[in-house]
Amino acid sequence: MTLNITLNRTIDDSYPIHIGPLSLIEFNGKVAILTNPKIAGLHLQTLLGQLRAKEVYIITIPDGEQYKNWESIEFILDRMFDHRLNRKSLLIAFGGGVIGDMGGFASSLYNRGIDFIQIPTTLLSQVDASVGGKTGINNKYGKNLIGAFHQPRAVHIDPSFLSTLPSREFGAGVAEIVKMAVTFNRDFFEWLENNNLQHGDNLITAITKAVETKARVVEEDEKEQGLRAALNYGHTFGHVIENETKYETYLHGECVAIGMVMANELAVVSGLMNSDEAMRVKNLLAKYDLPLSYTIVDVEKFYQAFFLDKKSADSAITFILPRGIGDVEITDSIEPAIVKKVLSTFSAIDGGLF
Ligand code: NAD
Repeated sequence: MTLNITLNRTIDDSYPIHIGPLSLIEFNGKVAILTNPKIAGLHLQTLLGQLRAKEVYIITIPDGEQYKNWESIEFILDRMFDHRLNRKSLLIAFGGGVIGDMGGFASSLYNRGIDFIQIPTTLLSQVDASVGGKTGINNKYGKNLIGAFHQPRAVHIDPSFLSTLPSREFGAGVAEIVKMAVTFNRDFFEWLENNNLQHGDNLITAITKAVETKARVVEEDEKEQGLRAALNYGHTFGHVIENETKYETYLHGECVAIGMVMANELAVVSGLMNSDEAMRVKNLLAKYDLPLSYTIVDVEKFYQAFFLDKKSADSAITFILPRGIGDVEITDSIEPAIVKKVLSTFSAIDGGLF
């Protein structure tokens, strides 16, 4: 006998993304704020000043990508139980992408899922990580391999939090902005070439354009069945670098910058992009002091590490390669020999073809 279960769902997961000074957040229930000691020290009072709720609890976890793991999730969930949060409670993720990814994941698990709000405080999380509902943690097999799609109820992007951000972290955020432009928006790329993000209102313009781009992509392909994978441009290579360097040498956005340079070289060798355009991307990244090269010690090992990336199927590696600036191809048909040839150009100091 076969029984059917019919689940015709109409779920509206739409949410606002506020860009500008942090507005009043009112909530008629318990709120837990997830943050780390550094962000709490710098900005928690600002958030508390704008929050009206029945009860507010602060949950802090240590700072760093190395804490984006199961132990931290258990710790967060335990604190949520200690504070007797219930299904109607709210979690606010207040920090960079690490806090955002973990806050989102913990709220997707607690009582089988409660609401959460993203208040991103790094440039990278303001332009990318806080929007789109991808949440998760790393494990010994790689980055973001465990997680859930869980959309926030709202995102509050206040660029004034960035006033305390170290310049390297700023650059890492720029890398993700450049990623959005190269993959989807040639006009935006040209605008970035001509406008310094450290001057005047340029930063808020760039944040808005990057978030608009990401929002449109998520609307079209929330669960990454196709188009959304394009936002992993630079990440296939970048994740291997992050893993090889144990998350210690480079910031995530810096690995993405190197990864974009590598992807561009593969795109050039594959006849998808011309070398002038690859050079323009490199020049733009260089303006923000991003690292652009990486010495691959063992090409075969680097190549094999691609297979741990969740974007790759059993036998084929998925690459996101620009078809010129503003357009992108998602392909799993690049010959291994071509990939290894490009990787081997990075096996010398200051490697790469261009
Ligand atoms: P992060 O969260 O580690 O923050 C970087 C550093 O800046 C930390 O030391 C943090 O404490 C500090 N910081 C945060 N706000 C600050 C402020 N206002 N002033 C001074 N210091 C501040 O790193 P990140 O670059 O924000 O995020 C990287 C993470 O985001 C990675 O784990 C990556 O996988 C994830 N990510 C997720 C998505 C997604 O769609 N979910 C997208 C991109 C990246």
